[in-house]
Amino acid sequence: MEEKILKRTAVFLTLISVLICGTIFYFPQLRAVSELWVAAMEEYKLKITAEQMNMTGLELLEYNNEQAKQQEDKDISFDSQLRLELPLGVPGNELKISQDYVTQTIDIKIPFADSEYFYHYPMLGRSDNIDSLTYEGREGYGVVEIVTSQVFEVESSYDKDYFYIDFLTPKEVYDKVIVIDAGHGGNAPGTTKQGVNEKDIDLDIVLKLKEIFDAKDDRSVGVYYTRTEDVNPSFENRVGLANKSGADLFISIHNNATQSGRMSNINGTQVMYDELDEDILGSRGLAQICLEEVTAQTGSSNKGIVEGNDIFIIRSSHVPAALIEVGFMTNQTELNNLKSEEYQEKVAQGIYNAVMRAFAEGY
Ligand SMILES: [Zn+2]
Repeated sequence: MEEKILKRTAVFLTLISVLICGTIFYFPQLRAVSELWVAAMEEYKLKITAEQMNMTGLELLEYNNEQAKQQEDKDISFDSQLRLELPLGVPGNELKISQDYVTQTIDIKIPFADSEYFYHYPMLGRSDNIDSLTYEGREGYGVVEIVTSQVFEVESSYDKDYFYIDFLTPKEVYDKVIVIDAGHGGNAPGTTKQGVNEKDIDLDIVLKLKEIFDAKDDRSVGVYYTRTEDVNPSFENRVGLANKSGADLFISIHNNATQSGRMSNINGTQVMYDELDEDILGSRGLAQICLEEVTAQTGSSNKGIVEGNDIFIIRSSHVPAALIEVGFMTNQTELNNLKSEEYQEKVAQGIYNAVMRAFAEGY
């Protein structure tokens, strides 16, 4: 392997340079030679700078592929999407991968990788499905950050020399895929009544729903959440998670208020859907299922399904979508209910039942 030889040569040259530096301290007449050698090394470095330093991560990947092809005079073949060379002495299990599905960002943390790691240990692979690829050397480690065009599950493996990363679509991993969205969050509280923020009730319900899904531990169903904490993803990212994961269902959880915002007798559960979606197994049917299953659990009054095409995340969803307005925060009884854990658990159970029923009915 020519790469190996290069690496050994580099180590050898470093050792020699230390020796030379030590020697010329005692033998100044050798200084001229060493200066030539230093100049040669500088030129080598400049070559990297000129050709590669200005490339984007993706350009560098393509460049590396070309170089490898020329060096080995054939296509480098491995089954995965990407192949990283492990820094000398770093076992594959010391690399850490973290993933943010909402922004489709994958971070790979590599110990003992300096800022030039990427130039000396080229990453090879395919650039399809990758929107951007960056490398950053930090204190004591390097981070490869990959933003993909779709939602993927990352599968990694390694051997003695290399770390392999593969992208699997959610549908390659799960039979059914759901995206659950808790409304608002962060600096967007939604409706606020008597010191209670809608964003917190929406999230509490979603976290209870997550507990139900987690307890079932059903490996055939993949559930993605737009948020599981007090943050406010953009509307594009929320609906993007549904569209880019090829989800079967997209369910958003909100709570209602009267238009004036004043307390009133108006109460009950409503579900919004895209009235322009004409599929039989589309938004309308899903909304009806959600409405029936949630009211069956909570006993809240059924205020019907409502047209919701003017709402961005409903209109922009390419998958069947329902936005559940669980109850009215402007109704005292319902507000008290929505604050209670017991009621939130019933809502979560109702949504879970709706999801399972939708799947049973062919979604
Ligand atoms: Zn809301």
